[in-house]
Amino acid sequence: MLQITNLNKSYKSIIVLQDLNLHIHTGEIYGLLGANGAGKTTTINIICNLLKADSGNVKINDQSVSETTKKIIGIAPQENLLYQTLSCEENLNFFAKIYGLNRETRQRQIQQTLTSVNLLDRAKSPVETLSGGMRRRLNIAVALVHQPQLVILDEPTTGLDIESRYEIWELIRQLKNQGVTVLLTTHLLDEAERLCDRIGILKHGHILAEGSLPELRTLIPASEVILVQTSQKEQAIARAAKYGFTPKYYGNELAFWLSEPLELKEIIARFEGIELDSISRKPVSLEHIYLEVTQDSKL
Ligand code: ATP
Repeated sequence: MLQITNLNKSYKSIIVLQDLNLHIHTGEIYGLLGANGAGKTTTINIICNLLKADSGNVKINDQSVSETTKKIIGIAPQENLLYQTLSCEENLNFFAKIYGLNRETRQRQIQQTLTSVNLLDRAKSPVETLSGGMRRRLNIAVALVHQPQLVILDEPTTGLDIESRYEIWELIRQLKNQGVTVLLTTHLLDEAERLCDRIGILKHGHILAEGSLPELRTLIPASEVILVQTSQKEQAIARAAKYGFTPKYYGNELAFWLSEPLELKEIIARFEGIELDSISRKPVSLEHIYLEVTQDSKL
């Protein structure tokens, strides 16, 4: 569906994208992860033909990016792009007209899109009267009204409460079920873990790692992670070293990577004599992989 090859972009002396390669398959949900300033929005703007790359190639369905490929894409930008005093259906009508939909198709699509984002009962409400979650769903509706094959969602759930997040996650899953390809950027690693078929980790405009979660898990030599709360951190680390557990800090939290899974009682036995406030085991998550990949890189 989308092939990005050796993409480069700089703003004067600031290199934003460096030999970016990224391939998104038809019908998948692809998560693009990266710290603030990694180049996600720049990449999206190039895909949407809103910005020109310095070099490299972007192909959508084997066509180079152009005004024609714009119609295949629907974008929901980070900042809601909505007219506050217009109603939900007036907003959708405005954007549907820009995409050249005729009156009859517009009417049908507006109803259908409002239904899919669960806003049909607010069709006549001005945007300024909607909650933050509703506005975000309407922002996504704008991206869907012309039935694009590729939908780009730039941080669709940032700042939303958990119920609103669930609604948007469900909407994204429905898009996938309808065969729509989704490119999602997010800083929420659990969101990417729940939704994405494949994930790309971007740093300084370069993909450091890409794959499904099981594929990414193979990048770090841990089968599970043990979280330990103790006032005797140094002793715990020294003891863990005897058993080949690798110490890691996640923020202030002390953790150990285990290369082979162990029963919890066996793990506790290894720390005998050290005062533990709590100990728990977790599977290797995207958070562990993301931190390792981005901290390890020389970029
Ligand atoms: P975030 O997660 O904060 O949205 P991002 O990964 O989307 O970040 P970009 O918005 O693509 O990052 O920005 C990448 C880099 O390019 C940043 O260092 C940013 O300051 C720089 N940049 C973006 N647009 C411009 C511009 N018009 N002129 C100069 N520098 C820019």
